[in-house]
Amino acid sequence: MSRLAGKTALVTGGSRGIGRGIAERLGREGALVAVHYGRDAAAAEEAVKTIEGAGGRAFAIGAELGLPGDAEALWTAFDAGLAGYDGGSGLDILVNNAGIGLDGRIGEVAEADFDRVFAVNAKAPFFLIKHGLGRLRDGGRIVNVSSGVTRVAFPPAVSYAMTKGALNTLTLTLAQELGPRGITVNAVSPGIVATEINPWLEDPRAHAVAAAHSVFNRVGEAGDVADVVAFLASDDARWVTGQNLDATGGSNLGV
Ligand code: NAP
Repeated sequence: MSRLAGKTALVTGGSRGIGRGIAERLGREGALVAVHYGRDAAAAEEAVKTIEGAGGRAFAIGAELGLPGDAEALWTAFDAGLAGYDGGSGLDILVNNAGIGLDGRIGEVAEADFDRVFAVNAKAPFFLIKHGLGRLRDGGRIVNVSSGVTRVAFPPAVSYAMTKGALNTLTLTLAQELGPRGITVNAVSPGIVATEINPWLEDPRAHAVAAAHSVFNRVGEAGDVADVVAFLASDDARWVTGQNLDATGGSNLGV
């Protein structure tokens, strides 16, 4: 597969979980992939090695999101990493995947935790796009990783769900704004995926309950989401913009 040959992609949170699946998939498709991480440099290097082992090209960049100046710091690291490659500067595919969870009903959420989850999940993608627009080439792609909890009410994580609702609105709004440049902006909404964000899945009973949400009676895997992101990143999705693609395995379709 070389649908993305000649393209450069950045996957935030590409070092672990869903983001790693996305980074590996885009790498297999021929893109040069910037694998972003926050704190775990070793995980990012491992992802880079896996991509290279499959014949792809990748480099790791570190920048903690959710802090003042985070977006500028990430782009500085990106520019430095990219400088070592032919083709120089510029980006074709930006995947805003990095995110954190926050459990709690409205009566339980502390203000500082609310601010933190918004800073990482909503504010950081906003400013990453803002400061990345000069690098993103015309005809490019932005894919925001949202969540199925924007379709189905999930009071136990109300503030987390709100961050993803904000991301969906950003997606719709920027699709309008960036259309004249041929840039598509879409979201992908996973359901429950087996990653380290969900350690509770290790309990077999909880795992079975989680699986039962999907019409396929299983928990999602990173690759299930990565394949959808790869479609949106490809030329096949050139006529799709402003959309939120549900990739929940048909979770909670009925009542
Ligand atoms: P994960 O396994 O915990 O991985 C999170 C990734 O994001 C890691 O690469 C991590 O890097 C990075 N990251 C987290 N906080 C960061 C920060 N403050 N600054 C910089 N990087 C940070 O999570 P995941 O399950 O793959 O989730 C990925 C995305 O999918 C998130 O946006 C999440 O909301 C969304 N999602 C997940 C599920 C699910 O069930 N897993 C469902 C719906 C939506 P470091 O390790 O270096 O910090």
